[in-house]
Amino acid sequence: MLEITALKEILADPKHIVITTHHKPDGDAMGSSLGMYNYLIQKGHHVKVVSPTDYPVFLHWLPSNSDVVIFTEQNQESARLVESADLIFCLDFNTLSRINELGELVRASSAIKVMIDHHLEPEDFDNYRHWNINACATAQLVYDFIVNIMQEEQLINKDVASCLYTGIMTDSGSFRFPNTTPEVHHIVANLINKGAENWKIHQLVYDNFSEDRLRFLGHCLLNNLQVFREYNAAMISVTQAELQQYNIETGDTEGLVNYALTINGVRLAALIIERADKVKLSLRSTGEFPANEICKKYFQGGGHRNAAGGQSDQPIAEVIEKFKSILPEYKSLLLV
Ligand code: 5GP
Ligand code: MN
Repeated sequence: MLEITALKEILADPKHIVITTHHKPDGDAMGSSLGMYNYLIQKGHHVKVVSPTDYPVFLHWLPSNSDVVIFTEQNQESARLVESADLIFCLDFNTLSRINELGELVRASSAIKVMIDHHLEPEDFDNYRHWNINACATAQLVYDFIVNIMQEEQLINKDVASCLYTGIMTDSGSFRFPNTTPEVHHIVANLINKGAENWKIHQLVYDNFSEDRLRFLGHCLLNNLQVFREYNAAMISVTQAELQQYNIETGDTEGLVNYALTINGVRLAALIIERADKVKLSLRSTGEFPANEICKKYFQGGGHRNAAGGQSDQPIAEVIEKFKSILPEYKSLLLV
């Protein structure tokens, strides 16, 4: 791995740059990507954010959102951008499988690849890396990159600040997860100083539900929540038919799994969703319980200790049974 400070010199002259992030991007993925975008354009670079897929409407207000290219919708344009890039920033993911078919294009590209990320177990495909699993968000690492590595804090304008604030706010669970350190609060205070309107950003992201989404939440909590008291675990499952009945769109299921974790005593929560092509799992846990271990061992996935995901090609009923059958193995850890 090369020393990342070398990027200061590499980025001194205008380059063709692609910024990409994981599929179905969340607030941190889009916040860190557009934060980096709004920083780099000020330096005269030719920059595009290429997202592997679409992303939630509640992120469409982000500054420069209209410049984002979506791979699944603009296939050829995306491929052309990746092929002709001098430099590719890979933000908020660390294995190329997380960006679907775009991954092989990135791998094949002769561009310099820079990974900025906070997930465990990075794959070795990059030339430069700014990686720290203790960061509460990739947006925190982008802030650190701009301020401490590039030493260009003055380029954090209102647009950059708003994007990075969004990333930190969403990935830290609105500043409540354990990795929300005093340093994170200092960074966030500085972003507000630089123009991020904290109250407004929170409203744009969290008070922007469609009526269908709120009724769907009610339906899930009333009818689809199962609590396994003997294991301190809970699960919400959702079928394709229910997603269609409530016109559920990308991003509408975000945060749903956290409701199961709000029940007192519950240490492990699962959301199991029947998507068109596969069944997707989201796991959340508290404290030392390794949700990522379950995802890795049983559901072709991984993630952080307290927030992980995976998938299965089996029918949803079987996935639910499989999840339940795993609980006894973890009983002692769940009852701590
Ligand atoms: P979510 O439940 O919000 O989809 O994902 C939570 C976290 O789990 C993500 O930040 C990511 O680190 C991880 N994750 C989700 N799905 C997958 C997957 O299929 N594979 C891997 N390796 N990690 C995943
Ligand atoms: Mn993240």
